[in-house]
This record gives sequence, C-alpha cells and structure tokens, in this order.
Amino acid sequence: MKAIKNQEDNLMEKISSLCKRRGFIFQGSEIYGGLAGTWDLGHFGVALRNNITQNWWKKFVDSRRDMYGVDAAILMRPEVWQASGHVEGFHDPLVECKKCHHRFRTDQIEDAKKCPDCGGGFGEVQQFNMMFKTHIGATEESTSISYLRPETAQGMFVNFKNTVDAFHPKIPFGMAQIGKAFRNEIAPRDFIFRVREFEQMEIEYFIRPTDWEKYFEYWKGEMLDWMEEVGIDMGKVHELEVSKEDRAHYSSRTIDFYFDFPFGNKELFGLAYRADFDLKTHKLDYIDEEEGGKTVPHVIEPTFGVGRALLAVLLSAYSEDPEGKQASDGAGEKEKRVYLKFKPSIAPVICAVSPLLKNKPELVEYANTKVYAPLKAEFGRVAWDDNGNIGKRYRRQDEIGTPFCIVVDFDTLSDDTVTVRDRDTGEQERIKVTDLKNYIKEKID
Ligand code: ATP
Repeated sequence: MKAIKNQEDNLMEKISSLCKRRGFIFQGSEIYGGLAGTWDLGHFGVALRNNITQNWWKKFVDSRRDMYGVDAAILMRPEVWQASGHVEGFHDPLVECKKCHHRFRTDQIEDAKKCPDCGGGFGEVQQFNMMFKTHIGATEESTSISYLRPETAQGMFVNFKNTVDAFHPKIPFGMAQIGKAFRNEIAPRDFIFRVREFEQMEIEYFIRPTDWEKYFEYWKGEMLDWMEEVGIDMGKVHELEVSKEDRAHYSSRTIDFYFDFPFGNKELFGLAYRADFDLKTHKLDYIDEEEGGKTVPHVIEPTFGVGRALLAVLLSAYSEDPEGKQASDGAGEKEKRVYLKFKPSIAPVICAVSPLLKNKPELVEYANTKVYAPLKAEFGRVAWDDNGNIGKRYRRQDEIGTPFCIVVDFDTLSDDTVTVRDRDTGEQERIKVTDLKNYIKEKID
C-alpha cells in the first residue's frame, strides 16, 4: 500500500516539477515564499489553457445556434449573493487542531476526531464562509461590502433579462461564460486541484420543466464528448450520482464526474439540475410565446473547472518510455524518456523547427525563412529550437509535448525535404517542405 502511495506522490511531484522546469505552471508569489492556493501560468501553461478554453468555447458556443456568451464583472452587488444563498449557506465545516493549529475541512479528513498531521484533538466544528469579502470605495462600512464571486453562474443569471431582451432567444437556449472564481478554501492542496483563485467554464441551459430529464442526459453526453476531445483519459473518468444530503442547496439532481487523480478519485466537473431556483430568487421570468404567457424556465448547469481540466489533461498525457526502451531516434542516450502525449489540437507547441547545426548559416537561413517563418505565420504555436544537440532538443520538445520536430539538414539544401519526427513513436519521415502545412493541418484535424 505504502509503495503505491509513494508512486502516486512521485507522479504528482514529477508533473509539478516538469510544469515548473518547462514553463507551464509556477507557484504564485514564489520569490516571496509562495501564496497558498495560487498558481501562475507560464508561457506554455497559458497556451495549453487557451487551447482548452478555446476548444470549449468553439464546441459549446461558436458551433451552436442556441448559446449566448457572457463575460460578467467579478465584483457584483452583495444582494446577488444574498439572493443566491451564498451569504447564508456557502459554508464549509472547519476544525482546528488544538496542538498544531492546522485547519481542516471535516469532510476531507478520514478521522474527524484526530489531526492527520500530529494526532492532536480538534476544537468545535465551525461553519466557515468561503467567499472572499472586500469593500468597494474608500470607506470600510457594512454598506460597502462586496464579494469576489465564488462561481461564474450568478454572472449569467443576473444577465438573463439583458440576454433575452437583446437576442429574443426561444426556449431551449443557453448562456455560457468562462471566467475567474474565488473561494477561500480551508486547505488548498494537490497542486492546481484545490486552489483559492481558479477559472470556471459554465453553461446555464434554460428549458421547459417537463424536458429536464431529456436535457440532463443530453448534457451528460456533451460533457463526456468534450472530455474525450481534449484528451482526458476516459478510462479514469467516473460518474457519481450525488445524494440529496450532499447536493448544493439549489440542486434537484447532480452528477459529479470524478477522475482518478494520483491523490485519489476526486471531482473533476459537475452537472446540476438547478430547476427554477436562480431565476425565481432573482425575480426573473420569461414570456414563452409558443406556450403562451409568463413562465420561469428551469435550468441545467454543466460546469467545468479549467485548472482541473488542465491537470487531468496533463496527467492523461504524461508518459514515460518503459525501462530500457529507447525511441528509435536514438536521442535518449541512457536516461528515461518522458513525454506529454497531448493531442495536436491541444498541444501548446504544434511543431518545433531546428537547423541540424546552428553554426552552419546555410542551414539556419533555410530553416528560418523557408520552414519556420511560413509555419509560424500559419499556426502561431511554432517553436524555434537550436539549443544543444538534436537529442537534447527532442527531449526538451517531448517534455513540452510538441507532436512534431522538424529538422533541416544538408539533404534539405539539395532536395527541399525535411525530417519530421513523431513525438510518440520517435519515428522520422521525410516530407517535402511544400507539403508541411497540409501535413500538420491534417494531424490537427
Ligand atoms: P469540491 O467539492 O471539490 O470543493 P464543488 O462541488 O464545490 O467542488 P462546484 O461548486 O460544483 O465545486 O464548482 C464547479 C467546478 O469548479 C468543480 O467541478 C471544479 O472543477 C471547479 N472547482 C471548484 N472549486 C475549486 C477549487 N477550489 N479549485 C479548483 N477548481 C475548483
């Protein structure tokens, strides 16, 4: 059991150190000792995040006729959070160890009577509101209180009327938003899994009440399709029907999608039937011309955490060649080969271009003007890599998850072909420079 646990810790350690080494993810405020529950994205982290969020927006907004985008302000009037029930009920049960004073969420520790860090006893369970409170304006009076939003959903509900008035959508229709949310988590942990500042991608899909079961099933299917599309290992995804006692106050049915993270089987995304809770509480309604008269539509809410999507994609992509197996490019020398098997459509770098030798101006010139520049103009996500020998470049690009490494060598100068090396097999083929764009386009599709 202990050996398995060590392997799991080891995997998270490997992923987080790769993310730092290769410029994906850094601890927030690191040079001042770090701020718990905050993480900063580096160049490749931003690229990976953008590919994930853009893919989501394309699938759920741009390719549909019934979805309306929103980008609401993070700060909202406190009445929004009073009406939504968050001021009253967005609490987590908190206990503090009497000996080491570490704090825990009672539902996240195995033994609610004993501190997992030092074995000490706990004080009374307290209810801790997870919203970050702030003040608007120069005075800190009770009338100036505002909150950093703990979910993006309310930003859509408060814009329901604006959206209906502007676009006159017919039921069923949805609103979608990608944006930051903040929760003062008692115990942020597990790299980017549980953090205090994160991003959500959420949909509120408005339906007639009689249709809720049909649309609940439909959205379940859409969510699973998307997970597969971005490269989440579907063998590690599980559905969990959330019991009435464990559901949020607004939900009449919830399914959580769990993922086998190295630190346990934990929530990845959620799907909730919020019924008419939100529109009613904000005193909103809709004129249903087809059915006749005023009504309050019901809502199905698929919700996705961007950070958890990023972590699941990273874990699904992380690969090591089995002991002793070297890729056929021979670049591995003696060390183990580590690579991120991202789908080409999601990879932060789609291809890297290298001159075989960086001190041969004719190779550098050719690689730069005839290969790198046109590919960069076409795909954007193209890297120039001439640092170290070819083996080292392959290893670096493997760790970034670059699907194709293109090398300009002396043959290129006479026959206008280059080698394209496949990240996963290590195999190389010779491709005409004029065919490169189409070759890569086909792989992305
Ligand atoms: P948990 O039980 O893990 O605290 P939750 O059920 O409170 O999560 P929701 O309120 O349903 O989460 O939030 C929707 C989604 O937002 C989650 O499925 C998850 O992907 C993401 N999310 C929620 N809290 C966090 C957090 N603290 N850090 C990172 N992502 C989060």
